[in-house]
Amino acid sequence: MKILLVEDSYIERHKIGGFLTDWGLEHVSVGSGTEAVKLLEAPTPPDLAILDWLLPGLDGIDILRRIRKLSHGNYIYTMMLTAKNRKQDLLIAMEAGADDYLSKPVDPAELRSRIMVGKRILDLQQSLRFAATHDFLTNLLNRSEIISALEREFSRSGREEKPATIILADIDHFKRVNDTLGHAAGDEVLKQVACRLKADLRPYDLVGRYGGEEFIVILPGCPLETGARRANEIRTLVGKDPINTPFGTASATVSMGVTVTSLNRDGTVADLLREADVSLYAAKKNGRNRIEVFSPVERSSGAAQA
Ligand code: GH3
Ligand code: MG
Ligand code: MG
Ligand code: MG
Repeated sequence: MKILLVEDSYIERHKIGGFLTDWGLEHVSVGSGTEAVKLLEAPTPPDLAILDWLLPGLDGIDILRRIRKLSHGNYIYTMMLTAKNRKQDLLIAMEAGADDYLSKPVDPAELRSRIMVGKRILDLQQSLRFAATHDFLTNLLNRSEIISALEREFSRSGREEKPATIILADIDHFKRVNDTLGHAAGDEVLKQVACRLKADLRPYDLVGRYGGEEFIVILPGCPLETGARRANEIRTLVGKDPINTPFGTASATVSMGVTVTSLNRDGTVADLLREADVSLYAAKKNGRNRIEVFSPVERSSGAAQA
């Protein structure tokens, strides 16, 4: 948890900052609303903001309102710290979006326990968010998240004219694992394949569970040739070692359909998925445990089949 302390009084800022340091809490301190807003609007904003009310320029209430209008989707827990202590002031702060309110002079023990309350709420919020965006079994991004990511990457790659490689991966003969070792073993294999799929990815690559035993990998900034090479490396890694489950050992390989956003700038995400699917189908037909790369020639033949 990263804390932002906004306090224009140098003495107060150092006093409270000193407490936060003593308690081992990571924080940044700033003396004005303008500096605060810059940090709050950054892509990785602080998680909790302790705001003084009276500040030169933007005051604490202005900052609160700005925080609640932010669109980066991270919840920022806010605590108003102020010498104003009428009930009316508390209502104004709460209405502007404050989660908590503390009167000055601040009692360190109380400040610490209120921060801990904020941390509990943030932790809870984070676990709810994780559950809403990730697949329960594999912990990969869930279907709707990976599709949203695909939409984002598709429009970004068009805007920045940088390609992104899209891989659709499907476990080969997965039904056999369920049929021979049971559904629980199948679940175990899905988890292991998910781990192997993401083992070799860069921090900005994305992988999600598209459906039952199908996965999507997005490699931003990756042209098709490099993407195909990387797909092959991932495929090799998945199938390299057998997977041990409490119910027996299974071997799992994947077939992959590979395409790239730059082939079809006027198309849609649905077109991209169709391209990946056509190639995946070819990989299955050509013997499984292999990749097939989409080519625009196939695109027109795919369109003719549709
Ligand atoms: P192919 O090589 O052609 O892809 O063959 P396949 O057997 O993998 O394909 P098929 O579509 O026939 O079977 C997919 C199987 O995946 C069927 C379904 O029961 C299983 N499956 C889907 N989701 C889960 C899951 O969450 N857990 C388990 N254990 N099995 C699942
Ligand atoms: Mg002040
Ligand atoms: Mg399938
Ligand atoms: Mg399959």
